Amino acid sequence: MGGFATVSHLRQIDPNPLDLLLPPLLTVIMFGLFVYLYHRPDSILQVVWIYVVTAFAATAIPAWYYTIEAWRTPGATLIESLPPIASLLIPPLLILIVFLRPRHLLAIAAIAWIVVAAPILLYLAVHPAQLTSPRGLDIVVTLGPITLAVVLFIPLQRSAEHWISKLQSERVKAETLADRDALTGLYNRRAGERFLAEALIAPDPSDVLMLFDLDHFKHINDTYGHPAGDAVLREVAHRCTVFLRKSDVFARWGGEEFLVLIRGTDQIGVIRVANDLRATIAATPIEAVETVTASFGIARFQPGDTITSWLMRADRALYEAKSAGRDRVMSG
Ligand code: GH3
Ligand code: MG
Ligand code: MG
Repeated sequence: MGGFATVSHLRQIDPNPLDLLLPPLLTVIMFGLFVYLYHRPDSILQVVWIYVVTAFAATAIPAWYYTIEAWRTPGATLIESLPPIASLLIPPLLILIVFLRPRHLLAIAAIAWIVVAAPILLYLAVHPAQLTSPRGLDIVVTLGPITLAVVLFIPLQRSAEHWISKLQSERVKAETLADRDALTGLYNRRAGERFLAEALIAPDPSDVLMLFDLDHFKHINDTYGHPAGDAVLREVAHRCTVFLRKSDVFARWGGEEFLVLIRGTDQIGVIRVANDLRATIAATPIEAVETVTASFGIARFQPGDTITSWLMRADRALYEAKSAGRDRVMSG
């Protein structure tokens, strides 16, 4: 744009010194910014700021210069002398609004608009004959309603942004809720199944599935009541969560049955984890309930396993733990 303006001014018979200086200077600055950005892509923010300030200055200087000249020179008209700078105000304004968004954005945009547009619009208001010419109307419409619409876009963009981020956080909240079990806060079966499916995309022989089920839980409910049973489930979930690593998947698989997916631990390590969980659950009585115990079934991933076959082995091991007298760990 600067290069084009430079050539067109050089072709004029009696070019204005400002026209001979400003466009080539701008061309050099913009080219310099491009080269700098190419070598230092991380400094894009500074480069964009320099562009915005330069572009505003490059519009404001001729705006004032030509308006004062037209006012001072008898017989001169601004619509004939003013270079086509009105529309040049819009790109830096848009970049300022969408890209940079500084603090006090609305005030900065309004000041930039006033500095560039005010002298020209004031001049045209005082010279209505020029205002009604096609060029005069073009300048007024560009600097007036069009630029104003861009500035007024700021509050609109802000509220749209606010609305979008609210929707996003609500979606994240809804997704989190959909993945969680309401009573214990653990992952629910749906999420557990998803984690299993994800593990099977790139399975490792060290991946281990653990199912554990509270022993004689029906008896706990029958003896102490359903609310006490709920408290036991919550406490078991809490104790095991504190014990497990963040990377382990821990889900409530069914009523009083839980699933743990442990990746990257050897067989002995996993059996130790299961026994520690068993001890953690049985450690101290929960509320009025006497000691709560659980039985564990462990199944290491085997090549060719599907979710069903993997779960079946863990379930079989759990069944064996129950049959062998409960409160124990069995490997499948
Ligand atoms: P086993 O040692 O063989 O596992 O015996 P169990 O009594 O634990 O097994 P069973 O499957 O017969 O009983 C499970 C009980 O868990 C029955 C059901 O009412 C209870 N239960 C399931 N979900 C909940 C719940 O959310 N809260 C409470 N309080 N009880 C639940
Ligand atoms: Mg049970
Ligand atoms: Mg059960």
